[in-house]
Amino acid sequence: MTVKDALSEAANELKSVTESYYLEALLLLSFTLNIEKEKVYLKEHLELSDTQTQSFIETLNKRLNGYPLPYILKKREFMGLEFFIDEGVLIPRQETEELVETALKECKDKKNFLDIGSGSGVICVSLLYYNTDLRGVALDISYNACEITKINAEKLGVSNRLEIIHEDFNLFTTEKKFDFIVSNPPYVKTEFLKNLPYEPAEALDGGELGFAFYPSLINKSFDLLNQNGFALFEIDPPISMQVRTEMEKYFSKVSILKDLAKNDRFILGVKK
Ligand code: GLN
Repeated sequence: MTVKDALSEAANELKSVTESYYLEALLLLSFTLNIEKEKVYLKEHLELSDTQTQSFIETLNKRLNGYPLPYILKKREFMGLEFFIDEGVLIPRQETEELVETALKECKDKKNFLDIGSGSGVICVSLLYYNTDLRGVALDISYNACEITKINAEKLGVSNRLEIIHEDFNLFTTEKKFDFIVSNPPYVKTEFLKNLPYEPAEALDGGELGFAFYPSLINKSFDLLNQNGFALFEIDPPISMQVRTEMEKYFSKVSILKDLAKNDRFILGVKK
């Protein structure tokens, strides 16, 4: 089978699982051939070896069964940067880029931050990458997630400004407080986890209402912040009012921010 045939067959089959069937076929081939996707066309007439054909069919079948593309490719673009990811962490969502953009706007006079539940590290590493005056601490209860945060911090050259701590945030203590705290905690309702079978439940499961983490996250963040520091969290739109009520028990100037799809997606509060 030539590269050209593999591309058109895969694109055709992928129509059943994705609208981006052509791009995905191209990415799967570039993964199999270990070349950039732009270079695949240059190899159109190349015959795939038996091993390449076999590995291409295997990955294609995985994808046709619904396995997420970023886990196959082991990478995901976020804030214009390329991150390593695997099944140990959730696949970063596009909305979370808006959390980073908001934090970057709000943190002009800030020096240090804490990222609670860093996962792949997309939030903390992007913040450090785009604001070189910042230093950060990343916390995650998952050892795998800490390892992946570390890989990405090194890959993107910010590891000298990031401390990574493997710990449950409820147990975390420190003498030095933070100028701001960011978090994308698990907020998927338990009943919807079945729709996300490949990602770690630990990173997504927000209990019956998706609210389980917020009371302790808010309380703990308030304790860990400096005066005038801010907390910025991602939320599930249906629980925005509930999170707001909880946030207002501690924080001032609480506001809910919308994502590009106009859903309530983030909550921001200042410690006065
Ligand atoms: N936004 C993700 C989703 O809807 C969930 C992320 C999270 O739980 N923090 O699948």
